[in-house]
Amino acid sequence: MAPIPYDDQNIFAKILRGEIPCNKVDECPHTISFHDIQPQAPVHILVIPKGAYTDMADFSANATMEEQAAFIAALGRVAKLAGVEEEGFRLIANTGFNGRQDVPHLHVHILGGTRLGAMVPAPR
Ligand code: AMP
Repeated sequence: MAPIPYDDQNIFAKILRGEIPCNKVDECPHTISFHDIQPQAPVHILVIPKGAYTDMADFSANATMEEQAAFIAALGRVAKLAGVEEEGFRLIANTGFNGRQDVPHLHVHILGGTRLGAMVPAPR
């Protein structure tokens, strides 16, 4: 399947341009992190790159090593900031149709603050 072109009208692109607000947790030159608007756990934060990447495949193939390192560093830093590092947490990057990705700008969910359910619930 051909890669999906980046859609600059997606909601996270609008957040990055400051066109809509977000509840920011952390920012660095290459990433921004903010609370999910519909939290699925007591801690539910999204980490996104500032660059225009559709998903993890696009990011890992096309982002610079500096961007990739900054993204990984942000995941660890934000988990610590959110206070879930010690008790544990889950990272999820829903990707594409089968992964049920809704927003076509790479994002990793950080979920925690409680003992989470099964990794893969029954399909809907
Ligand atoms: P995904 O299904 O992995 O693409 O996740 C997209 C996530 O973005 C969902 O958990 C939404 O609740 C979240 N979301 C959508 N719009 C916003 C927004 N304006 N601010 C924060 N989170 C949002």
